[in-house]
Amino acid sequence: MRRTSTQRRGSDGTGEERVLEGLGVAPGIAIGPAYTREGGQLTVTEYQVPRARIGAEQERLRGALAKAGRQLEKLAAKATALHGAAAEELGFLLEAHQQMLKSRRLVDGVLRRIADEQRNAESAVAAEIAAIEQGFQQIADPYLRSRAQEVRDVGRRILRNLSDAAFGGFGQLSPGTVVLAEEVTPADTALMDPALVAGFASVLGGAEGHTAIMARSLGLPAVLGVAGLLTGMKPGDLVIVDGDSGRVVVNPAPATLARYRKARAAQVRARRDLGRLASVAATTQDGQRVQLLANIELPRDVAPALAAGAEGIGLLRTEFLFMNRGDLPSEDEQAAMLCEVVNAMQGRPVTVRTLDVGGEKLASALGHLHPAGTNPALGLRAIRLSLREPQLLETQLAAILRAAALGPLRVLLPMISAPAEVAEVRRALQRVYRRLKRRKVALPETLPPLGCMIEVPGAALAADALSQIADFFAIGTNDLTMYTLAIDRGEEQVAHLYNPLHPAVLRLIQFTTEAALRARIPISVCGEMAGDPRFTPLFLGLGLRELSMGAQALPRVKRRVLGLRAGETLALADQVMRQTDGAAIEALLREA
Ligand code: PEP
Ligand code: MG
Repeated sequence: MRRTSTQRRGSDGTGEERVLEGLGVAPGIAIGPAYTREGGQLTVTEYQVPRARIGAEQERLRGALAKAGRQLEKLAAKATALHGAAAEELGFLLEAHQQMLKSRRLVDGVLRRIADEQRNAESAVAAEIAAIEQGFQQIADPYLRSRAQEVRDVGRRILRNLSDAAFGGFGQLSPGTVVLAEEVTPADTALMDPALVAGFASVLGGAEGHTAIMARSLGLPAVLGVAGLLTGMKPGDLVIVDGDSGRVVVNPAPATLARYRKARAAQVRARRDLGRLASVAATTQDGQRVQLLANIELPRDVAPALAAGAEGIGLLRTEFLFMNRGDLPSEDEQAAMLCEVVNAMQGRPVTVRTLDVGGEKLASALGHLHPAGTNPALGLRAIRLSLREPQLLETQLAAILRAAALGPLRVLLPMISAPAEVAEVRRALQRVYRRLKRRKVALPETLPPLGCMIEVPGAALAADALSQIADFFAIGTNDLTMYTLAIDRGEEQVAHLYNPLHPAVLRLIQFTTEAALRARIPISVCGEMAGDPRFTPLFLGLGLRELSMGAQALPRVKRRVLGLRAGETLALADQVMRQTDGAAIEALLREA
C-alpha cells in the first residue's frame, strides 16, 4: 500500500489531485463530496453516578483510554506505509496523541472529576478537555497554542470509545456523499443508506471483515486500509473511491474525473445486463440444478435479494438487529423483524442464524461480556455467548419459532465447535417450543431444522460427529480461513496472507462436504467465497449444490453456473485438491 501524489490541479481548479492506495474490498466506483466523520458533532450525555458505581465508572474510562492507545498504535503502524514529510508529520502527531493519552494531568483530572463530582466518564472527559484547552488559549506562544486542537482530537477519541456506539449515523448526508473515516465498523455500515452514501473509505480495516462484507452487500464501493486518508482532507473535497483497484483519488484532475465517470457508466450498464438473469434458473449445461441463496443482515436487504433472483435466504445475520442501541431487542421486536423477512420471502426458505456477537461485531448492551485486552475472536463469541446467557438465547429462539409459523425457516448456529453445543441448543429449542405452545402462540407443526455453521477448523474435522446431530451444515469460509490460517480477517496488516484457497482450508471444506453427503444432510457455503464466480466450478466439483452470498454477487455466480458442465468440474476439483500451494490453485481456477 503506497501513497502517491501527482502534481495535477484538481477538477475545481484549487486542490491538488492526490491518489491514495488501499484494499479495494467492494467493487464499483463512487464519485462525490467527502464527509469526514471525525469532524462531525459529538453529543455528550451528562448524569450523576451513584457513589457505589464510581469504581466501575473509572474502570470504564480506563477501558476507553486503553482502546484509544491501541487505535493510535494501529494508526502509527499504518503511517509507516507513507513516505517523506507526510509520514514524518503524521508519526509526530500520533506520538503527541499517545503522550497526551498518558499525561497524568488528563487521566488524573478525569478520574478525580468522576470521584469528586460523581460525573459520568463522558462528561468528566469533556469537562477536563475544556479546562486543558482553556489553559492552552492563555499561552502566548502560537505554536503551543495550536496544540489545543490535538487536545480536542484526543478528547474526541476517548469520547467516541466511551460511547462505543456508531457516531450519530449518516442520516443527514446529502445523496451521493462519500464517507471517509479512520475506521468504519460493521455497526456503522448498518446505518448507511445507499440512497445517501455513494461509497466509503477508511484508514483501518481488512478485506474480509464484516465491514467489507456489508459494503459488498449494500453495493457500496469501498476501499479500506488507506494510509494518510484523512491527512489534509477537507469536508466537501471531491473524492473518487475505486473499489476495484483499491484507489482513492482526492480532488481529481478534470481528465481523471472524466475517465472515472465513463468507467462508472459502463459498470452501471453491465450490472443492468446481468439483472436480466434474475428469473433464469441456475442450471449447469448438463442439467445440474444449483440453489443460489442470499446472505442478508437486515429486512432492507430482502428486496435486493429477490431482485437478484435469490431462491431463499441462506444466512440471516441477526446480530445487526442488536447493534447501534443501548438495550437488547425484546422477543416481540425480534419476532417482528423475522416475520417481516419470512413474509417478504413468500414461501422461499429463510435460514436464521442465532446471535453472532463478539469478535469485531459488538452490541453495546452486551459490552460487559467483552472485557478489553482479551482475544475477542477466540473468546465469548457467537454460540458460546448465547449458551452462557440462556435468557438471551431463549428470547431469540422464541422469536424465531414465532416467525417459523409463517413460512419455511431453518435455525443456524454460529461458531459451533462440538456436538454438545448443538444438543444443548436443541434442548432449549424444545423447551421454548413447549412454553410457547402452552401460551397458545401460533407455531410450526414441527421444530424447524437445526443446523450448524462449519467455521471452526475443529468443527470441520469433527464433521462426521456433527452430521449425526445437526440437520444441515453451512460452511462459513470467512472464519474458517481466519481460524485455520491464524489470520485476523479484519486486520489490514496481514490481509495479504488471508487466502481461502490455501490447501488446508480447501481440505477442510472437502472433508466437511463429504461428511454431509455421507450423512445425507443439506450443505451450503455461505462465506464470501460462495459469491466469487472463480470458485464456483471448484464447489460444484466438490459436490456442493447450494451457495449463499450477498445479493450483489448472485447474478455473476449464476452466469458462471449457466456456463459450466458439472461433470467437468469433478476433474478440476480433483486437480485442485492435489496441489500443495494456494498460488497454483489460483492459477488453475483462473484457467478454468
Ligand atoms: C463466515 O464466517 O464465513 C460467515 C458466513 O459468517 P460471518 O461472516 O458472519 O462471520
Ligand atoms: Mg462466521
